Amino acid sequence: MGISELIDKISQYDKEADLDFLKKVYEFSLSAHQGQVRISGEPFILHPLEVANILAELHLDVVTIAAAILHDTVEDTKASILEIKEKFGEEAALLVDGVTKLTVISQSKENIEDFDLTIEEDQAVNLRKIFLAMAKDIRVILIKLADRLHNLRTLSSLPINKQKFIARETMEIFAPIASRLGLWHIKWQLEDLAFSYLDSSIYKDLADKLVKRRIERESVVQETIKIIQEKLKELKVEARIEGRPKHIYSIYQKMNTKGKDFSEIYDLFAIRIITNTVEDSYAALGIIHSLWMPLKDRIKDYIAMPKANNYRSLHTTVYGPGNEPLERLYQESKIRSFKFSSFRFYASFRCN
Ligand code: MN
Repeated sequence: MGISELIDKISQYDKEADLDFLKKVYEFSLSAHQGQVRISGEPFILHPLEVANILAELHLDVVTIAAAILHDTVEDTKASILEIKEKFGEEAALLVDGVTKLTVISQSKENIEDFDLTIEEDQAVNLRKIFLAMAKDIRVILIKLADRLHNLRTLSSLPINKQKFIARETMEIFAPIASRLGLWHIKWQLEDLAFSYLDSSIYKDLADKLVKRRIERESVVQETIKIIQEKLKELKVEARIEGRPKHIYSIYQKMNTKGKDFSEIYDLFAIRIITNTVEDSYAALGIIHSLWMPLKDRIKDYIAMPKANNYRSLHTTVYGPGNEPLERLYQESKIRSFKFSSFRFYASFRCN
């Protein structure tokens, strides 16, 4: 990922983005971080670029992307907030300042505890509160989450005690914040990465099993998607369909809380139908229920009753496709869950 790929990506979702501004921001960050390398040996600038890239995937605005590119300059280089304000404006400077302050909190805790692996739960709750309260602009938290995600992706080059500390802090503070903001995609990645460092043997075992099951299931999932696509087309419902395996940490949690074995976890795959309008979400739900029998008590309408974080979608679990008798289907655990998201949900996180 270089600056030109990043700029390409942004210009695809924001036609009016000031790309020259971003180039200037990049040049500034590049020269500020000149000569710095990460522990992995990579040039430092790749880190802020990747953080910006994670945020571009969430279709964030140019100022947030700029702040992401600059996010470590005040902390780690000679650049000052005043300089950033003069060059790139007050809004970007406020975001960078917010991210820098959150970094300071996190690091002071790290020093006090000297990588102690048992953070008291209420302390984690406190820290989560401080984080949320301190960031007057939610975009500060988004940058911080993207920063953490990239740090986790490159965690293997750090010493083991530091890996464990960061992984635990991610589980206790960052993943719950991502969850509270409805950023599921970020939350899942944070959890799976952190889990792989906290309990690598269980993680590997589950990952292997999931891959095996995925290969077994892949054709069924593809076939299911095809059936839905045809029906949607027939009824003129515009939608995008995504099939995705459940993430590893959530399988682990389910096994733990329900005392189940891996072979007893049925809904390993979810299919997501993303529509353009709320009406189409309901239409898609109707299509699924007319194709396959829904399970009792598994239908959730978060469009009519959004979650506290404004998450809006419909969930259902159905007995999967096929003409086999229901009972046999159940025994063979061909149960799949479907999630419908209205596009509006994603749009609601483009913050101002
Ligand atoms: Mn950083």
